[in-house]
Amino acid sequence: MLAAHDGDAKPLAGGQSLVPMMAFRVALPRLLVDLRKIPDLRNVGISDDGVRLGAMVRWRDILEDARLAQANPLLVAAVAHVGHYQIRNRGTVGGSLAHADPAAEMPGIAVTCDAEITAIGRAGMRVINAADFFVGALTTTLKPDEIITEIRFPPWLANRRYAFQEFALRRGDFAMSGVALYYDPHRNGEAANAHVGVIGVADRPLRLGAVEAVLNGRVVDGPTIAAAAEAASSAVNPRDDIHASAAYRRSLTGTMVERALQNAAG
Ligand SMILES: Cc1cc2nc3c(=O)[nH]c(=O)nc-3n(C[C@H](O)[C@H](O)[C@H](O)COP(=O)(O)OP(=O)(O)OC[C@H]3O[C@@H](n4cnc5c(N)ncnc54)[C@H](O)[C@@H]3O)c2cc1C
Repeated sequence: MLAAHDGDAKPLAGGQSLVPMMAFRVALPRLLVDLRKIPDLRNVGISDDGVRLGAMVRWRDILEDARLAQANPLLVAAVAHVGHYQIRNRGTVGGSLAHADPAAEMPGIAVTCDAEITAIGRAGMRVINAADFFVGALTTTLKPDEIITEIRFPPWLANRRYAFQEFALRRGDFAMSGVALYYDPHRNGEAANAHVGVIGVADRPLRLGAVEAVLNGRVVDGPTIAAAAEAASSAVNPRDDIHASAAYRRSLTGTMVERALQNAAG
């Protein structure tokens, strides 16, 4: 149906972004294709290969699945910040990825964790690295005839240190800045394999390679945390907007990195 209507039809998942967009006449699809009728899109898979979440898995499904708290605790920590109770009951993984809000948690976690997104359409199935999927605010590489079917997260190591921190004006609002990070400590305490991602400060979620470079090979103590926070503030280049100045968001990002690292190290 999506292919037949060539750009004039849109998949409907939880409706928590699409319906507001339609109410504001920002989206004007002629046809909605309801994905709730496809039960396979609701699957949650956990194995040695990592975690697979079907596109129609809801935020609430993630928060209530005790296996996921073991299999990818960073994911669960981030999803706890999504919206309000009602939105978590309906909003979905695939809807969030396709909507691509620059401040949304799931796209940020996908980029931070090197996740892969699978999509299917007229030309068949393809797998897209999350890092290549988001191309700008509310813009992805998805084609109009494609739907996301699932997201795959690589395996999570047992002694991994991680944290998610975000700041929003009110509980449940989109983040003004949010940070997801993890690293795998060596036996002598030095961080390795650091992954640091940020939301809310650019037109898409970003990895902060400069902060990862500060962390890798160093013990995550006070001086390292201070250096990482400073690197984070310098690495982002947000714009002034109605909520905050660019300088405020830059500073906030450093603070989020500092708090996240204190949590992770503690
Ligand atoms: C008041 C409020 C507060 C919110 N706060 C947050 C927040 O703090 N953090 C956050 O991340 N989100 C927040 N959201 C958004 C919420 O999480 C949405 O549910 C989510 O972004 C979109 O998911 P959905 O299932 O509702 O998708 P829909 O609204 O149904 O769809 C969104 C877009 O994705 C497309 N789409 C849906 N599923 C697929 C698919 N499988 N393949 C291809 N395209 C698809 C649709 O065509 C549409 O373009 C908030 C929403 C509201 C109304």
